[in-house]
Amino acid sequence: MTAPELNHTRDRIYVDGAWIPSTGTGTLPVVNPFTEQVIGTVPEGTAEDVDRAARAAARALPGWSATSLADRIKACSAVAEGLKARAQEIALMASREMGAPWQLAVMVQAGLPVIDFASMEDVAGQVEWERRSGNSVLVRQPVGVVGAITPWNYPLHQIAAKVAPALVAGCTVVLKPSELVPGVAYLLAEIIDAAGLPPGVFNLVTGTGPVVGEAIVAHPAVDMVSFTGSTRAGRRVAELAAAAPKRTSLELGGKSAGVLLDDLSADGFGNAVAGSLTGCLINSGQTCSATTRLLVPRARLAEAEELLTLFAQFAPVGDPLDPATQQGPLVSKVQQERVRSYIRQALDDGARLVAGGPEQPENTPTGFFVKPTVLVAEAGSRIEQEEVFGPVLTVVPYDGGDDGALAVANGTPYGLSGAVWAGDLDRATAFARRMRTGQVAVNGGVFNPTAPFGGFGQSGYGRELGPLGIEEFTAVTSLQF
Ligand code: NAD
Repeated sequence: MTAPELNHTRDRIYVDGAWIPSTGTGTLPVVNPFTEQVIGTVPEGTAEDVDRAARAAARALPGWSATSLADRIKACSAVAEGLKARAQEIALMASREMGAPWQLAVMVQAGLPVIDFASMEDVAGQVEWERRSGNSVLVRQPVGVVGAITPWNYPLHQIAAKVAPALVAGCTVVLKPSELVPGVAYLLAEIIDAAGLPPGVFNLVTGTGPVVGEAIVAHPAVDMVSFTGSTRAGRRVAELAAAAPKRTSLELGGKSAGVLLDDLSADGFGNAVAGSLTGCLINSGQTCSATTRLLVPRARLAEAEELLTLFAQFAPVGDPLDPATQQGPLVSKVQQERVRSYIRQALDDGARLVAGGPEQPENTPTGFFVKPTVLVAEAGSRIEQEEVFGPVLTVVPYDGGDDGALAVANGTPYGLSGAVWAGDLDRATAFARRMRTGQVAVNGGVFNPTAPFGGFGQSGYGRELGPLGIEEFTAVTSLQF
């Protein structure tokens, strides 16, 4: 691969269709988690920057919301083309700034955002933009100026999953990407600029959550906040928004269960264990919807452990840009320490180590790595209840058949995703219908990027992607006749 030139240092923000300096003088470092070196900086934005961006978005709103749906879809298709043309850069940016393994960087970090924008034509066609109800016609209008705040783990997909549907709904946007992985947001802003969207329709302000994030939430011109990130920060966003009040949509953490029912054949069991481990380790374990708990019938625990000891060896850690690498470093030193302390704490609490552990992997002395780790722990223990956000699979034995498994699966405060495997598809489907979670993979079903995504409980509320993802950015006016 000939590497494209990448710019990790930026000294501008994108407001009202122009690249302007921040009103502040601070910068935030961008760190390569494999080399542990600072590779760039971005502006540490201010509340004044947010004010400019929010006003620009408010000025652009009447014009943009008056464009036809067809024109807004066309704009999204142009952005999708731009993303496709710069896919190598996007993948490399995600790999350098957050450590995404190369294959995943290409397929998911660069590939998914293209789908997010390109699917708008099909998805918008599924939205009921207006309908009759008695003597009313119910009309969906854009909710207004959207503040979008996003995390670092799928940095461009999480942005695209907000920006594309918001634009199609007729909204204008102020985006604050993660301060840890800001580069892809700059590439998107350049692509949107080149696509010729009117000034103010999309604005980018970089900075920290407490300053730029909170200024977006509190700004009177921002009508709705769409937030993806930790439950802790989501709670703060909802609190601040309640003061207005204004609408929020929260995509938060998870502790999703992969459930193996007791009628699986030995082969089926093996496939399910392998699928579960893959579902946990994807993106080096930094996936909100990862199936980080593997629920197995207690009588088959030894069978699961034996398989996991074997399979864990096939997840080599290494240089994210080496195509053979399955597991890259975690995004930051803080995240590495957090995950390691979870592993240590779990062992102190009585969990059993099946693979991995808290030490630095032998073959990678530098880089924020954590060994792919498998633990066995009982339901209700801390490691079984709390989101770790790293490559750590907790195997949880259950008793009491399907009802016992369901109680454990539904037994955390979260409910973002899940999976169930059974010998009998009807039984798996019946189980999936009882899981209190936003999506469930049934017998190995694959992620559908145009189906709604979102949570129950502390995983948040609101839905992203698919027609519901567009409807999220609308408000209904009832015209009575
Ligand atoms: P984070 O909550 O630390 O940060 C997310 C974003 O919120 C960042 O842009 C950050 O700057 C901003 N932020 C932080 N504090 C804020 C505040 N007080 N006000 C406004 N904004 C604030 O999360 P992270 O570490 O970047 O991402 C990891 C978390 O995100 C995990 O918990 C993961 O489960 C969750 N996540 C959820 C989904 C989902 O769709 N449900 C997807 C990906 C990640």
